[in-house]
Amino acid sequence: MRCPFCKSDESRVVDSRAFDDGLGIRRRRECTECGRRFTTTETSVLDVVKRSGVTEPFSRAKVVSGVRKACQGRPVGDDDLALLAQQVEDILRASGQAEIPAMEVGLAILGPLRELDEVAYLRFASVYRSFDTLEDFEAEIALLRAEGDPIGQEPDVAQGAARRTSGTGTT
Ligand SMILES: [Zn+2]
Repeated sequence: MRCPFCKSDESRVVDSRAFDDGLGIRRRRECTECGRRFTTTETSVLDVVKRSGVTEPFSRAKVVSGVRKACQGRPVGDDDLALLAQQVEDILRASGQAEIPAMEVGLAILGPLRELDEVAYLRFASVYRSFDTLEDFEAEIALLRAEGDPIGQEPDVAQGAARRTSGTGTT
C-alpha cells in the first residue's frame, strides 16, 4: 500500500481493528520512509451475478440510478436515495453471501423503498415483479393499505382523512 504522503511502497501495520461487526478491517499504517501514519480499510467485495452469468462488484450508485426513475416527481431527495443504497448494501452483506444474484438486489431494494415512498415502491415493484394486470396492482395496494392502517381503524375513514389532508395542502 503506497504512502499517500511520500508515495513510498514501504509501510508497516501499527494497529488493526475490525469494524461493522467484523465485516471489515481498518489498519493504521506507518510509512517506513517518511514516518507518517495513514489508515487503510479492507472489506470483502460483494459481487452481483447478472442474469447473463457475468459478475460485477455491487455498486450503491447503480442502486440509486435504478431507483431514481421510480422516484421521479416524488418527494425523495439524493440523501434519501443514498441512505436507501446503504440499507440495501447492509441487507445484502447481512445475508452472508459472497455472490448475490441480481434478482436479490432488486428484492433487497423493495423493503427500504416501501418505507421511503409507497408510490415509488409500486412503480419499482411493477417493473421488478412484472405486474402485468390491474389486479396485480390492486393486490399490492390492498396489501400496502392493510399493513399501513392501524388495527381497528376503518379503512374508509383512513382513506377519507388522507384525501382531506392532501386536498388542503400545507396551511
Ligand atoms: Zn511516506
